[in-house]
Amino acid sequence: MPGIERAIEKDLGWLRTSVTEADRVTYARDLWPRHHLAVRAGHVAIHKPGAVVWPTSTEDVTRLVRWAYENDVKLVPFGAGSGVCAGVLPTHDVVVVDLKRMDRWRSFEPTGPWLDVEAGHMGVPLEEKLNRRGYTLGHFPSSILCSTSGGWVAARSAGQCSGQYGKIEDMVLALELVTGTGEPVSLQRRAHGPSLLPLVVGSEGTLGIITSSTFRLHPYPSARAFAAWSFPTTEHGWEAMREMFQLGLRPAVSRLYDPFDAMLAKQGKAKSPKKTERKAPGLGALALRQMLKRPGFVNDLLHSDFGGKLMGGAMLLVIFEGQDETPQTHIRSARAICERMGGVYEGEGPAQNWLKHRYSVSYRQAPIFASGAFVDTMEVAARWSQLRGLYDAVRKALGEHAFVMAHLSHAYPDGCCIYFSFAGSAATDTNDRSWDEACERTYDRAWRAALKAAVEAGGTIAHHHGAGRSKAPRLAAELGAGLGVIETVKRVFDPKGIMNPGNLRPIEGR
Ligand SMILES: Cc1cc2nc3c(=O)[nH]c(=O)nc-3n(C[C@H](O)[C@H](O)[C@H](O)COP(=O)(O)OP(=O)(O)OC[C@H]3O[C@@H](n4cnc5c(N)ncnc54)[C@H](O)[C@@H]3O)c2cc1C
Repeated sequence: MPGIERAIEKDLGWLRTSVTEADRVTYARDLWPRHHLAVRAGHVAIHKPGAVVWPTSTEDVTRLVRWAYENDVKLVPFGAGSGVCAGVLPTHDVVVVDLKRMDRWRSFEPTGPWLDVEAGHMGVPLEEKLNRRGYTLGHFPSSILCSTSGGWVAARSAGQCSGQYGKIEDMVLALELVTGTGEPVSLQRRAHGPSLLPLVVGSEGTLGIITSSTFRLHPYPSARAFAAWSFPTTEHGWEAMREMFQLGLRPAVSRLYDPFDAMLAKQGKAKSPKKTERKAPGLGALALRQMLKRPGFVNDLLHSDFGGKLMGGAMLLVIFEGQDETPQTHIRSARAICERMGGVYEGEGPAQNWLKHRYSVSYRQAPIFASGAFVDTMEVAARWSQLRGLYDAVRKALGEHAFVMAHLSHAYPDGCCIYFSFAGSAATDTNDRSWDEACERTYDRAWRAALKAAVEAGGTIAHHHGAGRSKAPRLAAELGAGLGVIETVKRVFDPKGIMNPGNLRPIEGR
């Protein structure tokens, strides 16, 4: 570390930099839930970087990367740190590059309409500024409050309205990247021949630093239409979703909850979490820990036909948006499909309620960690024909270690994403000191089993959270020989391997 400190002092005087303990602790991690277990165990920042820097322009980034290239210094790009797969896990010899001081609009073209925006722009102010001009980007990840435009592109993000506007890769028309040699390159969406743009979308900081992206925009919707249906089973619901997308309907939002998740959604608005003390767990926390020690029993009960009926079945929420009467017309078509597939109309309320609280749910993990348990999410995808197999396999694999529920919220004509939420705890009673380590073991076992099951069932190991370091070991199983292509691309863009080493690819230095 002193080496980096000295080098930074000597060479980077023109750049805002920090080697203070507070900044190095702040940038030691992203929001990978396994980190929360480590923090709970008292290991606050074992992965501190050597330094943090804040460039303000592409020129700054270019100069910085050239310096890093010449001096063999490793760099980790940092958006807002909302990643959940250990995409940011620096070591003492790494410089973290926070892009958030790069948030200018470089060019806005209303007739496009498109926007070229720097990579560090935060999500909510970006969308609000567009809305004031009569436009929307159409990208609403649940983390919109704590993620950046560059982070979305780097992690290949999906927003809640992906049904209508697509994933981030459908929105990017061009981007600017400073490669691992410090060369700025502009990549465009191309109308003919091979396109390089898709190589960088989803590269998770391993090829270079994205400094700006040009996004397609849409007119701000003037009208919305809402509906919800309950279905006897989750499969009945996804058959209705499949039919909608294959017949050409594009609901901005279509969210199908399995019976347990539906029961939570029906409870209505998100409640403020109660404060829970970790060191003296209350009765509720103890009960939760006990229940999660036997997840198999709880899963079997809740996911049985009897449990499904008791909870009122699965529930599908749909929102169409657009101009004038179009959303209402589309919702009538959706209603005909859902009712033909056995859905019972539940009115507009559940979908309106969801919209009102659309960003609340994801931030409710803290009380579960505070009670001594853990919670995480896993998003996988497959073609429709493989969905049943994927759903059963991953749910079974996770269910042996944790309590599992699921919803489906990103659908396409050819397939769908399944989003599992799972909560677990240590498998056996143990004293307080080793409790967190025991939780980590359960957590690792659950992930290993689920990733294996996803690949074996013909699904992907991720849909929009990226692979990071946490899923990298299974990437080869999904990509096969394709991993070699990624290695080759990496060598071209980043020959010295200084960009986010260890991320996305399990093997470095080849
Ligand atoms: C509560 C919560 C809800 C979430 N909901 C969603 C959701 O609905 N949809 C979704 O897609 N994701 C979701 N996520 C995951 C996360 O928000 C996304 O992966 C997001 O795209 C990360 O953006 P960020 O700016 O925080 O990037 P970071 O976490 O800072 O970085 C993510 C990865 O990209 C790299 N990176 C960041 N910026 C750049 C850059 N400019 N150039 C090159 N590499 C870069 C980093 O090195 C890292 O590997 C959620 C996360 C949380 C905590």
